[in-house]
Amino acid sequence: MAVGTDLDGSSRWQYLDRIRRSQGPFNQDSEVSDEALAILDKFKVLVIGAGGLGCEILKDLALSGFKDIHVIDMDTIDISNLNRQFLFRKTDVGKYKAEVAAAFVEQRVEGVKITPHNCRIQELDDAFYMQFQIVVCGLDSIEARRWINATLVGMVDEENQETLKPLVDGGTEGFKGQARVVFPTITACIECQLDLYTPRAAVPLCTLATIPRQPEHCIEWAHIIAWDQEKPYPNLDKDDPEHITWLYQKASARAQEFGISGVTYSLTQGVVKNIIPAIASTNAIIAASCCNEAMKIATMSAPALGFEENYMMYTGDEAIYTHVFKNEKKPDCPVCGNMAKPLPVDPNWTLQELLDSFAVKADLQLKKPSIRTQKKTLYMQSPASIEEQTRPNLKRKLGEELGLEANQEIAVTDPAFPTLSFKFYLQFP
Ligand SMILES: [Zn+2]
Repeated sequence: MAVGTDLDGSSRWQYLDRIRRSQGPFNQDSEVSDEALAILDKFKVLVIGAGGLGCEILKDLALSGFKDIHVIDMDTIDISNLNRQFLFRKTDVGKYKAEVAAAFVEQRVEGVKITPHNCRIQELDDAFYMQFQIVVCGLDSIEARRWINATLVGMVDEENQETLKPLVDGGTEGFKGQARVVFPTITACIECQLDLYTPRAAVPLCTLATIPRQPEHCIEWAHIIAWDQEKPYPNLDKDDPEHITWLYQKASARAQEFGISGVTYSLTQGVVKNIIPAIASTNAIIAASCCNEAMKIATMSAPALGFEENYMMYTGDEAIYTHVFKNEKKPDCPVCGNMAKPLPVDPNWTLQELLDSFAVKADLQLKKPSIRTQKKTLYMQSPASIEEQTRPNLKRKLGEELGLEANQEIAVTDPAFPTLSFKFYLQFP
């Protein structure tokens, strides 16, 4: 049966097929065979995130002809999601986002199969990720992006082309957004581009612990330090109003102590859940461009973002401005490069000051760093026995007390990225 001509639903794809059959510089042969058109049917695509962007992405991919889609999201539906996450209804509150979104799109678009995974991306292994041909991310977490990026780069086997999974990544903040494509190990990866984000939540622990200056610092203190010390409930559930109320009260008391105003329940919820102001239309624009890029990569029907221009920036807050450029791969990227980066430091800093600087450094953003030289461990966050042994080093000065020298190489690790080691060589003024 010819694709696109039958009456049992696939006439839906006639316009899509017409684009794919028409002649052009990227499609010289006007007689694209039905077998070639059917390749999309077998394409397996993974969507990460079933929130504001994810709902749009799932809908767009299904309506673009992808038939085998998987989606991962660990979150459940909150009533506050309903204003823009249009695959969810009031009766869905409390259910898993991935499950509800998958069922909705499956029902709406005949012939598409969507498999939900209600878990964290870190719980799935390389074998799971290996089954897909493209990964599309609609996430609001930088940490999750960095994790999947490192995983996909690590999976590439140069001898086997199938191990190369293009990563299409969308992100929005208010009226601004970006869509970018990464060909792992070949083009600039997410880690290469990390300094495009300003670290927002990464406040040095010492600021939180000693001198909060902003309401957000008091909330992060309640979230990271007070919760850990007092453990009012066994596990923090960011969707549980009782848990948020506990954090809100702790943060308010601390704010009062330091004469800081502005701690509210909704700010507490925003900081703890790392909520980025979302506008439905920006999500729609960014998700749509991500899906068009995914479709173009899958079908080769038109040039996609990728090897040359790889980053589309949409700026809607200063009228409308869209810019596409090539983000260059960095030879000293800790994920896809292998060179050590220069790290300017003052030898009079203590080790603690150095570690705190890693949280706010735009190209690092590490909250729980451990650090070692080629010869010895300077500080390790865990196990507890090594932490205790190395803790005295935190107060020592890098130069005269710890004996670190200019150009010496150090390696930094963080439990959020277990496969990565960030290599630096020290630069003294
Ligand atoms: Zn990189």
